[in-house]
Amino acid sequence: MSGLDLYLAACSMLAGGVVGSFLNVVIHRLPMKQSIVSPGSRCPECGHGIRRRHNIPVLGWLMLKGRCHDCDAAISLRYPGVEALTALLFLASFLVYGVQPRTPFVWTFLAALIVVAFIDIDHRIIPNKIVVPGSVIGFGASVALDPARWWQYLVAGLGASGFLLLLGMIWRGGMGMGDVKMALMMGCVLGSSVIVALFASFLIGGIGGALLIATGLRGRRDRVPFGPYLSIGGGFAALAGAPVLEWYVRSFL
Ligand SMILES: [Zn+2]
Repeated sequence: MSGLDLYLAACSMLAGGVVGSFLNVVIHRLPMKQSIVSPGSRCPECGHGIRRRHNIPVLGWLMLKGRCHDCDAAISLRYPGVEALTALLFLASFLVYGVQPRTPFVWTFLAALIVVAFIDIDHRIIPNKIVVPGSVIGFGASVALDPARWWQYLVAGLGASGFLLLLGMIWRGGMGMGDVKMALMMGCVLGSSVIVALFASFLIGGIGGALLIATGLRGRRDRVPFGPYLSIGGGFAALAGAPVLEWYVRSFL
C-alpha cells in the first residue's frame, strides 16, 4: 500500500465516523418525524446540546466516559457502535473498490442499510423515506455506472421484491411490505449479487432466529424483524457479492 492509499484509507474511516454520527441522528429522529438537520446532536435525556469538542465520532463518547456532560445520564454504547461500524464499512468499501465512483455509491447504500436495520429493531418498521428514494436513486446510479447491464438491475430489483412478496403471502405475518420494498432497493443497487444478499440474509436470519429462541430471548411465535438480516446480507453482497457469485458459478454450474 502506498502512502497515498494509506492516507485515503484513513480519510475513508474518518468520513465513515462522521457519517455514522449523522446516522445516529437519523435513526433516532426519522421515525418520530423530527427534522434530521436541526437542532444539532443533543442528549436524549436532558436535551442539552452536545458540545462541539465532544461531538467527535467514538472519541467523544470515550472522552465523556459514556455519560452526558450535563445530566450524567448514560449514553448508549450504540452511538459509538454505529459510528465505529460505519467507519469500518467505509474503510472496507475503499479497500474493495479503491478510488472509483462506485465507492461513494456503496457508502451511501451501506449507510441506508444501517439506518433501516436499527429503525426496524427499534420500531419494527422499514421507513419508506429510505427504501423508496433508495430504490429510485439506486437504480439511476447503477445504470449510470454500468449502462450496458441496465436490465440486470431492473430484473434483480423486481425479482428480489417479488420473491419476498411471494414468501409473505405464503407465510402470513412473515415478511412485511417494508421487507419487500427493501428487497427492491437491494436488487436495484446490487444487480445479480442480490442473490448472494438474499441467501446470506436467510442463512444468518435462520441461525440468528434459532439462537434467539434457544437462549430464550424470543418465543417461537414472536415476530422477529427481518430488516436487520436483509441489511447484513445486503452489506455483505455490496462488498463481496461479485466474487462469491463468480466462485459459485465456477464451482457448481
Ligand atoms: Zn443530558
